[in-house]
Amino acid sequence: EYALEATDLRKTYRGGGKAPDKEALRGIDLKVKRGSFFGLLGPNGAGKSTFINIFAGLTNKTSGTARTWGVDIDQDSRAARAAIGVVPQEISADVFFTPYETLELMAGFYGVPKKERRTDELLEVLGLTDKRDAYVRQLSGGMKRRLLVAKAMVHTPPVLVLDEPTAGVDIELRRQLWDFVRELHARGTTIVLTTHYLEEAQELCDEIAIIDHGKVIACEPKETLLKRM
Ligand code: ADP
Ligand code: ADP
Repeated sequence: EYALEATDLRKTYRGGGKAPDKEALRGIDLKVKRGSFFGLLGPNGAGKSTFINIFAGLTNKTSGTARTWGVDIDQDSRAARAAIGVVPQEISADVFFTPYETLELMAGFYGVPKKERRTDELLEVLGLTDKRDAYVRQLSGGMKRRLLVAKAMVHTPPVLVLDEPTAGVDIELRRQLWDFVRELHARGTTIVLTTHYLEEAQELCDEIAIIDHGKVIACEPKETLLKRM
């Protein structure tokens, strides 16, 4: 059993009116091992977000199968979604809450019982304890990113997916963010990140898949992949 598993996964966006259809995923076969730090590398428009969004329950696939932590998303979409936390690309703005309130609201949304919540622990792991009760709008960009990671973790999913989390983030904040993600990985979370930076995948991931025009063109442990490039 895998953390994520896609078999002949396809997605065609239907063009409205005169717009043509767009085949974003053209038969993706991919297995992400449990416990790995997995990189999904590819240029803009390759299909990375589409792939992630199907697992996140944000987009419907056209055909093929997708399993999260062994659960088929068609058979039990709720259980499949509970097994995954997704950190989106954009920073959303729940600016009127504090980090503590933001995480409590998210935990409520996921139906995590009060006794099982780990809000303060998450704030600690992501270096936000000092800002626990500050308004989110007062946080720096890097802190907001870390809060997004924490939000994706409130239900303690075994898999954390980060969609281009360092796009537009300066190098210092990028390093910080990676330290926190590495910490989560060390504590047992399977990490999947999408990126169009080879160096980023190279530095962080132990296995890398390259996706282009909706197809996987390589998927190997980092060492063997880099030898061929
Ligand atoms: P990425 O950085 O992953 O390539 P984009 O900037 O291409 O993301 O897309 C941002 C959002 O716009 C996504 O939610 C995507 O679904 C949507 N989108 C991208 N391309 C199109 C398109 N051709 N038509 C409609 N929506 C699109
Ligand atoms: P990536 O994340 O690798 O940049 P995406 O999954 O965002 O790639 O996009 C894959 C292809 O699908 C692109 O050509 C994009 O323009 C198109 N696309 C993405 N979202 C939509 C959408 N909502 N409607 C139409 N086309 C889309």
